[in-house]
Amino acid sequence: MGRMLAIAGYPLNHKFGFLGKNDAPSALLGQIFSGNKGIDDLVDFADVITYESENTDVEIVKQISKKTTVYPSAKSLFITQHRGREKTLFKQLGIPCVPYKMVSSQQDLIKAVSEIGLPAILKTATEGYDGKGQFLLHNKSQIGAAWKSMNGALSILESFIDFKRELSLIAVRDTDNNHKYYPLVENTHHNGILRLTIAPAPAISPKVQKTAERYMQTLLDEMKHIGVLTIELFETENGLIANEMAPRVHNSGHWSINSANTSQFENHIRAISNMPLGDTSATNNFSAMINIIGEIGNIDAVLKMPNAHLHLYDKTERTGRKLGHINITANSKQEIDDSIKQLQEFLPNDD
Ligand code: ATP
Ligand code: MG
Repeated sequence: MGRMLAIAGYPLNHKFGFLGKNDAPSALLGQIFSGNKGIDDLVDFADVITYESENTDVEIVKQISKKTTVYPSAKSLFITQHRGREKTLFKQLGIPCVPYKMVSSQQDLIKAVSEIGLPAILKTATEGYDGKGQFLLHNKSQIGAAWKSMNGALSILESFIDFKRELSLIAVRDTDNNHKYYPLVENTHHNGILRLTIAPAPAISPKVQKTAERYMQTLLDEMKHIGVLTIELFETENGLIANEMAPRVHNSGHWSINSANTSQFENHIRAISNMPLGDTSATNNFSAMINIIGEIGNIDAVLKMPNAHLHLYDKTERTGRKLGHINITANSKQEIDDSIKQLQEFLPNDD
């Protein structure tokens, strides 16, 4: 994410430094700060600091906020890095969310299962990503194993939602309280990992888009969020249900690099550096994003397609790791479907 933020920010005449290792994917894109003095040196270097993960230490963000500007603020990070706090805020703001119970012992889990019912998903309250730290419970005999898999971490039991599809909304808010919203997109996950995004999501009524934007606006304003904020939603028979938020650019927004007037990355950089926000409209009605997971695969096939755009992250291959993505631009639903079919080898084959 840091790499893509920098790539979007250079044409705006910004300079970038990164906290991390010398072999990080962003290493060649700016100065790298590491070691004991890494944070201090970064604070001296930067006019504004942002982060690419909600698993960033909130105490460190609070500390450096005393010396330099950090966007999004520690408040946004504190809430969004914890599934319990996130859902408390959803409820407080009247945003429908998954029925849940916090769990900190096996006894708690037994009680939560009797209240929430099964199937349900047990998740660690913090630090999960790409479906990691989750256990899907189908019957009560799994309670012991589910709790054991949490390794004693504070957890949350969520009712399993029988959704029609998954959607996400990405928005950006600047320091003058201007908001902009991208169109809702449709996301397909496999084993908890995002594999495919269709943007904009097909057949979204203006009413559903407006509802999602209203939820988003209340969240942006409540947290006084500066930068990009993402909300993941389940579309159900009874309307939209919020799953989780991310205080950052999001994998389901990568399509915007090739198919929006301003990408999510550029808009995040604009928001945190006091530049006017860019237009968030899609430049075509049909685009898609396919993640490259685990192994790079036959990228020559991608490069030969006139409407496919390859984005690699300079990461080494590892099972389940996000190594890059392919953006598809198209002029019709048919063209999107055909292109996805052509790139089938990048998608899981047991869907
Ligand atoms: P990421 O950070 O990659 O978005 P995550 O590890 O934080 O993922 P979630 O988004 O909560 O975890 O869950 C990953 C996926 O698992 C969801 O996108 C959805 O497909 C499925 N899932 C999660 N919670 C539920 C639920 N309550 N009901 C049904 N499916 C769910
Ligand atoms: Mg998620």
